[in-house]
Amino acid sequence: MRKVNRGGGWPAVFYTWQKAREVGGLWKLWKAMRSKNACKTCALGMGGQSGGMVNEAGHFPEVCKKSLQAMAADMQGAIKPDFYSTYTRAQLQAFSPRELESCGRITTPVMLRQGEQYYQPISWEEAYRRITGKLRSVTPDETFWYFSGRSSNEAGFLLQLFARIYGTNNVNNCSYYCHQASGVGLTGSLGTGTATISLEDLDQSDLVFVIGGNPASNHPRLMRTLMHVRRRGGEVIVINPILETGLVNFAVPGDVRSLFFGSSIASVYVQPHIGGDLALLYGLAKRIEAMGAADEPFLANQCEGWIELRTFLRNLSWDEIKHKSGVSQAEIDPIADRYAKARRVVFGWTMGITHHTHGVHNVQAIVNLAMLRGMAGKPGAGLMPIRGHSNVQGIGTMGVTPKLKEIVFDRLQQHFAVRLPTTPGLDTMGCIEAAHAGKVKLAVCLGGNLYGSNPDATFAAKALGELDLIVYLNTTLNTGHAHGLAKETIILPVLARDEEPQPTTQESMFNFVRLSDGGPARHDGPLSEVRIIAELAHRVLGASGPIDWLSMNNTGQIRQAIARIVPGMEQIAEIDQTRKEFHIGGRVLHEPRFSTPSGKARLFIHELPELAGDEGTLRLMTIRSEGQFNTVVYENYDLYRGVDRRDVILLHPDDIRRLHLTAGGRATIRSNAGAMQGVLVSPFDKIKPGNAAMYYPEANLLVPRSVDPGSKTPSFKCVVIQVEAAASAAQQPLAGISSDGDERAKSRANMRSC
Ligand code: SF4
Repeated sequence: MRKVNRGGGWPAVFYTWQKAREVGGLWKLWKAMRSKNACKTCALGMGGQSGGMVNEAGHFPEVCKKSLQAMAADMQGAIKPDFYSTYTRAQLQAFSPRELESCGRITTPVMLRQGEQYYQPISWEEAYRRITGKLRSVTPDETFWYFSGRSSNEAGFLLQLFARIYGTNNVNNCSYYCHQASGVGLTGSLGTGTATISLEDLDQSDLVFVIGGNPASNHPRLMRTLMHVRRRGGEVIVINPILETGLVNFAVPGDVRSLFFGSSIASVYVQPHIGGDLALLYGLAKRIEAMGAADEPFLANQCEGWIELRTFLRNLSWDEIKHKSGVSQAEIDPIADRYAKARRVVFGWTMGITHHTHGVHNVQAIVNLAMLRGMAGKPGAGLMPIRGHSNVQGIGTMGVTPKLKEIVFDRLQQHFAVRLPTTPGLDTMGCIEAAHAGKVKLAVCLGGNLYGSNPDATFAAKALGELDLIVYLNTTLNTGHAHGLAKETIILPVLARDEEPQPTTQESMFNFVRLSDGGPARHDGPLSEVRIIAELAHRVLGASGPIDWLSMNNTGQIRQAIARIVPGMEQIAEIDQTRKEFHIGGRVLHEPRFSTPSGKARLFIHELPELAGDEGTLRLMTIRSEGQFNTVVYENYDLYRGVDRRDVILLHPDDIRRLHLTAGGRATIRSNAGAMQGVLVSPFDKIKPGNAAMYYPEANLLVPRSVDPGSKTPSFKCVVIQVEAAASAAQQPLAGISSDGDERAKSRANMRSC
């Protein structure tokens, strides 16, 4: 595989051509990308009323491979009618995530029942009848409702309302498996669960920490912002167990100088051991305190817990820090020195921080470090969880959580004159465990890939298999439709965001609410999420109740309710008239006023966890490639890491020697959750010995179901594994994990729709 020495650049430009050809030409792709719809991929936020490829600061063009991949996927042709009678359940299960995604758009409801081999196309009437019948035959708490962060605010609000009026709080979203620790950690420390800055704040920062993530792959437009921090003489400090190519140097295609000569991103790059972030963060705090760089007046007036934290830091030994982080004081001190000199600092992080059983502690340790120098509550400084899906934050704001905020609970009851259930709701892992135990019988999944995003994939398949009915609302096929099967599985085809018949709204990770105009449907068959939800609610709950559900198939009307019920969303009431997009009130902090009971930021103390594993094991982190977004795989190759397949384990050459493995040979990987055989051993010197990486979601077979007690998020980024050479060289590559060179994939590709 051709290696690249920087991210972005000409390969991104050529990739744009490739995608343009796939969808019928550059003009067709351009028009789709320029439509007034929010970008469908990540939460950095793009598009909306200022037109596609425009960011919150009004800068144009802003486009990246991720946004093109998502658009091209929605511009695919329809899955051919004979597809469902051609491929059996077993054959679909052998498809890779990429193969399923590229089968085309789902355009008809389909059903698969236990014991049957083929999905059957069914009519919408049949689908509604079956789902309604089942919902009426179980008790509300025998159901759960799972939401992806790709759906609109209106669909999220309406479906959580339907589920609650139906009688359950088993309502949760995909952030339980990604950024929940950010929400819980920030709320505990600052009283608010989202970013405290706007995108524009980054234009004033002179130092940005990028912790536990690879935005060069997953949020590429952030690279332009970081390039400008460096060009202004600022610093970017990257903390990541893997030395990521795009975080060292990134050629921003839309900037001529950068395109030709590249742009240095990281001014300092530090690689802790997997799971060593907490110790490293405390090491930095200890150094700041020791060098007298702590902002004592801020800590005294705006924070509580400083005295205890200072004592803890002074008693913490550098040996413990070094052992548990894998980073020496000699590396930590210069980073702290740079932090001490900076005036406006932003701390950004992703799942390398949240995907741990101590994820909440990691987030609170980042807040501690920020508070030590008063880096919140002023322009250009603050906390920035770099979130995943384009509307994952909006879905949370809409009340898609097991427990509603009290004010939202009260206002919902008042506004709709209803009594809402008060039974405790289950989080995502709680639902899977309950399904496995036979306590829930039915699940409704609005977008996403619940099976694919679950840890312990074998357990997840069994759990979903216990359900009487699972209903998926999706645009394209994914591994959940092949492996996450219940006794009866129904897939309902939905319209993409830019095909919606009515405007919808989305919220970016910077608390910015965009209005997406929608657009013409590309295929006959799929329906809007809001219309399906309104129809189902009408059929299940009837027309006699307090809510006229069919009239709720009106996103404008839903926005009127959101404006009256959800704090900070008042402006959404006029957005249809004003077309004025807005920041949610009370979220961006330019004054050090925190929404905690005391009005002060809370500093926490955490015991540093032991470094996972021992001599005979490795610490594994699951990773996303440059060719995927969350569970959706668009390309099998990982350009920035120089890897051309997904059935690999990335190991440092020293570990390959130490464990008597062969580079390019096959290995068996074991963990407490399961085992994977026939995994290709791929030498990778960009990770420290003792640590390893494999691709998500395929490696979820190895991820145990243990969760962070605060966020209920599994530890996808720290799994203790054993690696041994394959018993026999003849061991076949893994099923369902193909590489571009895989003949089977080629043969299937020719037989599929587009
Ligand atoms: S960085 Fe994120 S929001 Fe921006 S274009 Fe790319 S995928 Fe879309």
